[in-house]
Amino acid sequence: MRINGAHGYRLVAVGQPLELVELPPLEPAPDEVVVEVSGCGICHTDVGFAVDGVPTRKALPLVLGHEISGRVVAAGDSAGNWLGQLVIIPAVIPCGVCPACQAGRPTICRNQFMPGNDGDGGFATHVRVPARGLCSVPEPLPSGMSAELLSVIADAVTTPWEAIRRAGVGPQDVAVFVGVGGVGGFGVQIAAALGAAVIAIDIDSGKLELAAQHGADLALNSSAMSEKDLKTAVRNFAKQSGPNNIGMKIFETSGTPAGQQTSFGLLDFGGYLAVVGFTPKKVELRLSNLMALDATARGNWGCPPDQYPVALDLVLRGKVAIEPYVQVHALNDAPAVFDSVTRHYITRRAILKNVANGT
Ligand SMILES: [Zn+2]
Ligand SMILES: [Zn+2]
Repeated sequence: MRINGAHGYRLVAVGQPLELVELPPLEPAPDEVVVEVSGCGICHTDVGFAVDGVPTRKALPLVLGHEISGRVVAAGDSAGNWLGQLVIIPAVIPCGVCPACQAGRPTICRNQFMPGNDGDGGFATHVRVPARGLCSVPEPLPSGMSAELLSVIADAVTTPWEAIRRAGVGPQDVAVFVGVGGVGGFGVQIAAALGAAVIAIDIDSGKLELAAQHGADLALNSSAMSEKDLKTAVRNFAKQSGPNNIGMKIFETSGTPAGQQTSFGLLDFGGYLAVVGFTPKKVELRLSNLMALDATARGNWGCPPDQYPVALDLVLRGKVAIEPYVQVHALNDAPAVFDSVTRHYITRRAILKNVANGT
């Protein structure tokens, strides 16, 4: 079965506005599906491709977008069980057979497929993707939840989830999030759901207020404090909140050099630093602090598909609120909305909703 008449918004060249394009007929291979998009989140990474000239793995022109929810409307011969299901498409789809995948490290699979990077993505009415790794969404959805909101699970929720899971966060922990926009705001809620005492740090008072309403026990504005005062406030809180006050778990979710400096500076004895945000810029650090403090630093590239149902469950049970952190726009407005995101006129995570899709 092939899908005709699909259209999308593609990036033709760095610095150019997205361009409406009619897609060629979409026909799934035996192990592929075509998903009618419900929503697609706009990520920092898309801005990197379109503005900063970070090269996409498949050459331009390319339809961007890798945070996708939608319904399977066509399936290849070996993927027929997916037909009709509401799904979240993982941002990074591992091959499942290479040595890295076999070794249980699917996020470093070199044959991975990322929509909007290795092939056309979700700024579109439809997208063709591998069926493996799709996350099935149980229906009906809880009241107040809609299919397009679930799109941001495919990165903005699952990436901090994976960082938090790897850090082993639990009720005994103090978790610190530096940068509490989309990704960090979800991280705050996830860590709180796991029972940790949570500190939110940002330079934006609006984001801090939101974090305080959704999981943060302490919200600190780093633009209004000296580095020393910030450290003192964090450590005092940790002393009162952590049952054994050993090694805070710090999550760098700002993706800025300043946030990285702040995060690294907050490491204490036995501390753990998770690098979740991305910036191409460099920072100067005394790396030997890791040795002197017996501390750990770790990164993660996305999240294995098998963790998606766990993250989805947190959202469906109301432990992680999406709505206050996003702004929904019509897919038809993609060029203007994307432009506003690149200029930071839109600071919440923007979702492009395929209004034609009734689900
Ligand atoms: Zn992303
Ligand atoms: Zn692989």
